[in-house]
Amino acid sequence: MALLVQKFGGTSVGSPERIEAVAAKIKQYRDNGDDVVVVVSAMSGETDRLIGLARALSEAPPPREMDVLLSTGEQVTIALLSMALQKRGCPAKSYTGSQVHILTDNAHCKARIQGIDGSRIQQDLKEGKVVVVAGFQGVDEQGNITTLGRGGSDTTAVALAAALKADECQIFTDVDGVYTTDPRVVPHARRLERITFEEMLEMASLGSKVLQIRSVEFAGKYNVPLRVLSSFQEGPGTLITYEDETMENALISGIAFNRDEAKITVLGVPDQPGVAHKLLGPVAAANIEVDMIVQNMAPDGATTDFTFTVHRNDYERALEVVRRTAGEMGAREVAGDDKIVKLSLVGVGMRSHAGIASTMFETLANEGINIRMISTSEIKISVVVDEKYLELGVRALHDAFQLEAPAAG
Ligand code: ADP
Ligand code: ASP
Ligand code: MG
Repeated sequence: MALLVQKFGGTSVGSPERIEAVAAKIKQYRDNGDDVVVVVSAMSGETDRLIGLARALSEAPPPREMDVLLSTGEQVTIALLSMALQKRGCPAKSYTGSQVHILTDNAHCKARIQGIDGSRIQQDLKEGKVVVVAGFQGVDEQGNITTLGRGGSDTTAVALAAALKADECQIFTDVDGVYTTDPRVVPHARRLERITFEEMLEMASLGSKVLQIRSVEFAGKYNVPLRVLSSFQEGPGTLITYEDETMENALISGIAFNRDEAKITVLGVPDQPGVAHKLLGPVAAANIEVDMIVQNMAPDGATTDFTFTVHRNDYERALEVVRRTAGEMGAREVAGDDKIVKLSLVGVGMRSHAGIASTMFETLANEGINIRMISTSEIKISVVVDEKYLELGVRALHDAFQLEAPAAG
């Protein structure tokens, strides 16, 4: 008998029929003698629909009210799933985030979980109930409803698993595990049996939205056994674990990509100490996160070019801020491009192997794909390329590093 925290994403609970199927699955675990705490997302498309309603009313909806609105999506699902479980003779009880004291800071729309009081849940489990908790939401010290950022139900599940010391946190979704890359882009991508926290964190940070970044951080920090599985078919899924000697360290575990990128270049900036600070200070002050940064050599010894990337949603705002500063600094020109994407290779095996970057660059060159920016760390290499090359680039790299599933038979 185990204590399991099971999370079902939006597609998995996207219709009454699917909710019935989820209830049937949970009941199987119960019948096996496991204790189950369930975390659910809003039904698929619901969070987007709610955001659309808010935008129809206001260009910049107040974040506090946004959270009141968005949290309703998950509240619908917990009630429906509990009904479906009870119908099957499986005692179940639903709770919103605040009812089980998922305490967060007050950063509306991107709140962080600070603590969970598991006593109410533990009492219900003792009484033989399945506890169904709304994902993605919490409450701050003042009693305001908060939400945890897109994909936040993953983090609710991991945080509950940590608080309750669950035996495993199981993330049920519409794919049967973590793949070498998004199977929607490379249909013959391969499911990974295991991936390290470190690699999964990079994959998530670099754009693989199969798990929210914070859920991976949390699981790594509190040593929560985490598994990604399919809601629709049986199988072992993918276990996210610490690195150990027995793992054959694949050179490359996966390829991540991010479509939400934009870049800004300032040309002909006077090359003096403090340029980066002068240009990026006001960007940071406007609460815009900067990712990659490249400052060129100054061939004429007098002026230099400076390029950086931001989230595509922040592009217009960042451009405005930079134009102002660049004008004051006497830069020649500001140019921008929001039709770029980032492709990244991730793998702990990279630490001990040279030559991966050159294979990557050669592969892209052979496809006629121009690399706009490069950034590397111990276990990843990222390049920025034009948006139109995303699929071609990912597939070419997947082939070049032989990440595909072996042919059947
Ligand atoms: P849920 O609604 O269950 O939270 P998400 O849409 O957030 O599901 O995450 C699952 C999706 O993540 C998959 O449908 C897949 O397209 C995408 N994905 C991106 N990268 C990967 C990857 N490396 N492995 C598996 N799925 C991935
Ligand atoms: N419903 C929220 C979203 O769509 C949270 C989640 O699904 O994890 O982002
Ligand atoms: Mg998700």
